[in-house]
Amino acid sequence: MMPSAILSNQLQQRIKKDQMDRYLMNGRDFIDDGAIWKKIHEAAEPSAARVREILRKSSEIQTLSSDDLAALIKVQDPEMLREMRETALRIKKKVYDNRIVTFAPLYMGNYCVNHCAYCGFKRENIEAKRRVLSQEEIRGETEILAGKIGHKRVIAVYGEHPLTGIDYILESMKTIYGVKTPTRRGYGNIRRVNVNAAPMPIEEFVRLRDGGLGTYQVFQETYHHETYAKLHPKGTPKSDYRWRLYAMHRAMEAGIEDVGIGALFGLYDWRFEVMALLDHAVHLEAAMGIGPHTVSFPRVEPALNSEDVVHSPYKVSDEDFKRIILLIRLAIPYTGMILTARETAPLRRDAIGLGITQTDASSRIGIGGYGEEGNGQESERQQFMLGDTRSLDELVRDFAERGHIVSFCTAGYRCGRTGKCIMDLLRSGQEGKFCKLNAVLTFQEWLDDFATPATREAGLRVLEKELREIRERNPRGFPVFFQGLERVRKGERDLFL
Ligand code: SAM
Ligand code: SF4
Repeated sequence: MMPSAILSNQLQQRIKKDQMDRYLMNGRDFIDDGAIWKKIHEAAEPSAARVREILRKSSEIQTLSSDDLAALIKVQDPEMLREMRETALRIKKKVYDNRIVTFAPLYMGNYCVNHCAYCGFKRENIEAKRRVLSQEEIRGETEILAGKIGHKRVIAVYGEHPLTGIDYILESMKTIYGVKTPTRRGYGNIRRVNVNAAPMPIEEFVRLRDGGLGTYQVFQETYHHETYAKLHPKGTPKSDYRWRLYAMHRAMEAGIEDVGIGALFGLYDWRFEVMALLDHAVHLEAAMGIGPHTVSFPRVEPALNSEDVVHSPYKVSDEDFKRIILLIRLAIPYTGMILTARETAPLRRDAIGLGITQTDASSRIGIGGYGEEGNGQESERQQFMLGDTRSLDELVRDFAERGHIVSFCTAGYRCGRTGKCIMDLLRSGQEGKFCKLNAVLTFQEWLDDFATPATREAGLRVLEKELREIRERNPRGFPVFFQGLERVRKGERDLFL
């Protein structure tokens, strides 16, 4: 293979200056580091009346201003913090009810031309065992995810390298969608492929959209310009801060309506990152008419040769991490919020109570990890270490025992409920009408096909409660819905409204 410096150079040629410069304001991007710090420093602890005024806005599913958020960052009063937590939970219930969506990460390859200081895949990690999955291997991994574990959504993750460029991404998506595998009562397949891959030019985003993409996800890592430059050395494609910052603008220009933003917490001061995430959401909505479909909260985890970063002064404690989740739930109330298996089981339980809506399970992040024995945790093969390696079955049971229903619904993008349409539905609390019904249909399907007896028992209790609520809300429409449920119980699959 060519030396990585040459490959890196090739990939940098894809960066099209005009595709980011057109969004700049007076030659500047929308993250103004000085202005963010000024707001944080100047905000004082708000009065109870001011906190309640802000919480009223959040409850009405309005995006907060950066002044509002800076004020909430300063809250110390335990009573006000309690009200913030209660409001966050109410918002989550209003917008997403008691549903949790699950997915599995599917790592496609760990070749990468970049040298991100915190990542096990960085090119200078010569100890890393490099691999790209063949289409046959992708098929094998998908059969396990869809046929044995029961996932319906994956996030396909790619290093930045010519071996995993847009042609490979499209082929791999096609392979994943093509798998249909028998289960206990029906069949299993992946119905939504989300992609986490390096920023692309608009032309490639158009191809990604046409390939049946669910959500395009990319994290800014840190929004702080100077820290970003330090962690992403010059001469790599990722060193271009603005190419990454405007990736979602380009994706939306290309017609991709569901995009997921995020910051890698622990690289810089979390207060700055939270303010910047809000700025990103606000600017995206102002420029493109749609805010982020999801926000992610990865925390830096130990990875091969990244000790400096992991032990940085910006390491985020569990308490601060929960505060971050709470603040984003209140600041961008309509958005989906993703917490991954990087975090431990107890923290994930707490986070659900603060407004998280999506999480992964049975996760393996070594390349080709699903087909292997053991828990798949091996530092030379994976990007970082996981905090929670529980199976999907265990996670479903845990959530069901706490009254949550795991939704395997993937209807949204397949029946046009994406982008602005879904944002409006979420804001008005209308999305629940479809989602609750689809959650029940897909949960029944999963319980019949994959659950162990104990999980099935816990799951059926939640299902009964959901059915009672659906009947009470719409007694006249209930019989038609119930017929659909009976069809699922008899083995029909992938019914949705
Ligand atoms: N290569 C693409 C990119 O960087 O955008 C996509 C794949 S990359 C493997 C996905 C994400 O993993 C990165 O955006 C980063 O936030 C996260 N990541 C990298 N190193 C990590 C670490 N040590 N702990 C936790 N997350 C990490
Ligand atoms: Fe490559 Fe992404 Fe890891 Fe950076 S974070 S080294 S771009 S895989």
